[in-house]
Amino acid sequence: MVSSCSGPYPIRVGTGIRKKFPEWLAEMGFSFTRKVALLSNRTIRPLHADTISASLETHGFPVANFDFSDGEAYKTLDSVRDCLDWLLAMKWERQNPILALGGGVVGDMGGFIASILLRGVPLVHIPTTVVGQVDSSIGGKTGVDHRAGKNLIGSFYPPRSVWIDPFFLETLPLRERRSGLGEVIKYALIGNPKLLRFLDDNLEALSGESFDRGVWEETIFLCAADKARIVSEDERESGVRMNLNFGHTFGHALEGAMGYQGILHGEAVGLGMIAAARVSRALKMTGEETEETIRTYLKRAHLPDQWPEGIRFSDLEPFLKSDKKTSSGLVTLVLPVRPGEVVRTRDYEPSVLGSAIV
Ligand code: NAD
Ligand code: MG
Repeated sequence: MVSSCSGPYPIRVGTGIRKKFPEWLAEMGFSFTRKVALLSNRTIRPLHADTISASLETHGFPVANFDFSDGEAYKTLDSVRDCLDWLLAMKWERQNPILALGGGVVGDMGGFIASILLRGVPLVHIPTTVVGQVDSSIGGKTGVDHRAGKNLIGSFYPPRSVWIDPFFLETLPLRERRSGLGEVIKYALIGNPKLLRFLDDNLEALSGESFDRGVWEETIFLCAADKARIVSEDERESGVRMNLNFGHTFGHALEGAMGYQGILHGEAVGLGMIAAARVSRALKMTGEETEETIRTYLKRAHLPDQWPEGIRFSDLEPFLKSDKKTSSGLVTLVLPVRPGEVVRTRDYEPSVLGSAIV
């Protein structure tokens, strides 16, 4: 369960739970004649959305299907408007639910649409990527990108429920799955001793070419429970939720400096954690072994552990300054003290940020 501004909502995790979706919709009070919108994208449609849609139809729910174009480049107000036009043309009613089936991009847009259509319609997240399952579907943040920056337009809109079936991850490209491990490692390092021990034993199984169902299910469960706990404590990100930004300050700046090309988010977060460890060391908050430990986890997950050639600190600076978490010109840093412990600080000289990169 997650507590939120509009009441608690459940998170259900398990391999095979996708077969229960129609039953659960009925349990939530949606009658079998009520129209359901299944939002997805063109990649996920043939892999999973067609099957989910058919199973809902079989149970008597009339399903309206909508596919976004695939990619972060389409996480825009234009895509949202297209979908709203389509829903309104059908005379969508306020009680009719929206199911967002996909990764963080579909989830963020589906959530945003549900939050503004008719001042809010019921929303269920069905995440299909590692990032979706351990992070973006939990916590109520929705939104789209703007030319001025990522995620600058959006809302907090808690879903009615989150349904996480790790089965969906089996079709994820290997690089995407490994990239998701960047976020998983982050959860372990910010303070989840059980997950840290689990990764010590199972990181090779998670990053291997074949998909290990049991190990992935346990991992998703541990991370999703952690995110649920953190956002329940601090929905609006004024305290402990900020710890989830570990690796993200420099990670986002790196993605920006590379024009969001050639690097995946989780890969950038991994490198961002190394950068944070270097800053932490420069501030004498940790020793050199922390950077090495993070590097070892990244290597075991087959994630990059070296900054891309040619990226200098001056390339990152403009992005560090425009970070959404910046206030009064200073970004709150989340720095590692030891594996499993981070601190938040605004007490530093800006010049120390330069020590982030070799
Ligand atoms: P994504 O949604 O772009 O998905 C990655 C790729 O995998 C896409 O090409 C997608 O079509 C494909 N895909 C998805 N599921 C698949 C499956 N089961 N099999 C095969 N292919 C599949 O990327 P993502 O990493 O899931 O999400 C990133 C987005 O999430 C960013 O826009 C980020 O801002 C957002 N995000 C939001 C939050 C939040 O709290 N709202 C948190 C983290 C990230
Ligand atoms: Mg992230």
